[in-house]
Amino acid sequence: MRVMQQPSDAALPILIVPDRRLKSRARPVTPADAAAVRALVPRLFRTMYEAPGIGLAAPQVGEMLRLIVVDLMRDNSPEPRVLVNPTILRVGAEWVLREEGCLSLPGMYADVTRPGEVTVSYHDLDGKPQRCEADGLLAACLQHEIDHLTPLRRNMLLRRLAKEQKIKASA
Ligand code: ZN
Repeated sequence: MRVMQQPSDAALPILIVPDRRLKSRARPVTPADAAAVRALVPRLFRTMYEAPGIGLAAPQVGEMLRLIVVDLMRDNSPEPRVLVNPTILRVGAEWVLREEGCLSLPGMYADVTRPGEVTVSYHDLDGKPQRCEADGLLAACLQHEIDHLTPLRRNMLLRRLAKEQKIKASA
């Protein structure tokens, strides 16, 4: 018998629609989760970078926690962001259309309209409250990943992407 020892930052399998686990509710991260979250975050980044993607929500790897990681990799330089218990506090008045894809729906892209600016509150890995004001791609990415944490929002997002794909395929 051979025991496979996985490195602690190994990539995790990304759940693909229609995996039933993607439909479970993500619960808020509590102080009791601190060690588990610290262990999970490097693996979320590894999974996201290998995919490759610019954002990943913990439920996409079957961890039902309100936790997302984002890195736009602008100019190929890493800028990793971890958002624990993110909440959208405020959205700007102007809506912006942008093509979005999702690591749980490989190869599918759809035009999605969202507020162009958002203010997000969250906790960092030390449990300190933080606030982030974002526009452009970062605003869209944060909203997309936060959608993954709420069943209703996630279902709307995934249905929309899947539907758009059918239209493109038949065009
Ligand atoms: Zn997604």
